[in-house]
Amino acid sequence: MSAERILVVEDEKDIRELVRFNLASQGYQVECAESGEAALKALADPPRLVVLDLMLPGVDGLEICRIMRQREETRDLPVLMLTARNSESDIVTGLESGADDYLAKPFSPGVLLARVRALLRRTENRRETAGRASLGRHGLAIDPDRRKVTLNGSPLSLTSGEFDLLVLLSSRPGWVFTRTQIVDSVRGIDHAVTDRSVDVQIAGLRKKLGDSGGIVETVRGVGYRLKE
Ligand code: CA
Repeated sequence: MSAERILVVEDEKDIRELVRFNLASQGYQVECAESGEAALKALADPPRLVVLDLMLPGVDGLEICRIMRQREETRDLPVLMLTARNSESDIVTGLESGADDYLAKPFSPGVLLARVRALLRRTENRRETAGRASLGRHGLAIDPDRRKVTLNGSPLSLTSGEFDLLVLLSSRPGWVFTRTQIVDSVRGIDHAVTDRSVDVQIAGLRKKLGDSGGIVETVRGVGYRLKE
């Protein structure tokens, strides 16, 4: 049993109560927000994880996610995005806005709990993984404790997923990580869209590395590696 606090942002009462009930049954301390505005207020005291509905009246889930990633105190909070839609473009938009994972409605309580546990475990593992990271290659400096990365002295603004991915790849430069290994290491659970989300995060990471984007190499049919 855990007393970790989870913020649930959902305007639909039935779903909000379903999520609240199931999380509370596992011992999590659950706080609910019925609107984006209420969520932003609640985030002033950051929880351990946020379950965030994409479609909200007013400030929607994507906007909340973007705001969270801009704020120092909520930048690294794990976000599980709930979406009524299951189209690839919505999923990609959600992941690009900084969500760590998503869940399409309707979902089973068991899957919800598995995703929440995986996200919590992943963020607990971050420090351990980060400690193995090699520093200083390619002009990159990774500060695992503060979760900051600089490239040739300039700070990079990475999503938490992109940060974890970079730390993983840089832990063994030249070593090819398969998508499955990446999924296992940075997400902790396997499910249908994970390969796609890894590709999205790789693309985001390369874009932010700018001229140095080529240090993240694609090994066709296998996976990715950091240039040795
Ligand atoms: Ca909604």
